[in-house]
Amino acid sequence: MTARRVALVTGGSRGIGRAVVTRLAEDGWDVAFCYRSNDSAAELVAKEAAGSGASVLARQVDVAEYAESKRFVRDTEAELGPIHAVVTCAGIVKDNPLVLMSEKDWNSVLRVNLDGVFNVCSAAIFAMVKRRAGTVVTMSSVAGVHGNGTQTNYSASKAGIIGFTKALAKESGPRGIRANVVAPGFVETDMTAGLPARATEGLAGRIPLGRFGRPEEVADLVSFLVSDRASYITGQVFGVDGGLVI
Ligand code: NAP
Repeated sequence: MTARRVALVTGGSRGIGRAVVTRLAEDGWDVAFCYRSNDSAAELVAKEAAGSGASVLARQVDVAEYAESKRFVRDTEAELGPIHAVVTCAGIVKDNPLVLMSEKDWNSVLRVNLDGVFNVCSAAIFAMVKRRAGTVVTMSSVAGVHGNGTQTNYSASKAGIIGFTKALAKESGPRGIRANVVAPGFVETDMTAGLPARATEGLAGRIPLGRFGRPEEVADLVSFLVSDRASYITGQVFGVDGGLVI
């Protein structure tokens, strides 16, 4: 890559988002990322990315809030330049069987995981359309493709992301913009760290590759999808799941 392009990553302070931020910085991107509350984790990621030569903007933003998300996009363009890639990794879980699922837990998961994607992408897309260039990668999940028990809220949010991204690929493809979905299986992050050891072993036993994935293995795919090497790929859903769903 010659001139440094700008990528905006949501949920970049931990887990998969963190791996995406550091990988894109290594690839030669300048990176803006947001996080919800963990300042010290964000500082570490910002330092790591800057160490690769990237200009970095780290912001505390709740992607569930439309105005905050819009401001984050506007500030990124003002401080780093035109956004060429948006990668949405911010996500939460609040699991329960449907009979025990509260309205609050339903709403909060949908607001962060799905509304958050709308809030950030809708703010970024206008400038991309004007420039007739850009790419979006959204983070779904195997739960969004196949559903997962005790995760009706999470599965619905992640399935919604797939519909959103395919629609975006159709409407913005003629304007030079690509949009794709990554659907990880079980990845070693804080999100899965709370699983009891027996559950982790049981799940790993169902995965043909016999283990959970590493965040860097998801970031490798994102790195490819936002690059010009993926110039003819749009509207697709890519599993990174060690073969879990075959
Ligand atoms: P994680 O380790 O829990 O990290 C979540 C990240 O999102 C953190 O940076 C967090 O910020 C940020 N975040 C949470 N709520 C936010 C909000 N309202 N506004 C802005 N940022 C927010 O999660 P992960 O495991 O890396 O997951 C990343 C994405 O991959 C999620 O969308 C998840 O659904 C998806 N995914 C994960 C797995 C897996 O096995 N881990 C599998 C399939 C899909 P703070 O640090 O400030 O809290």
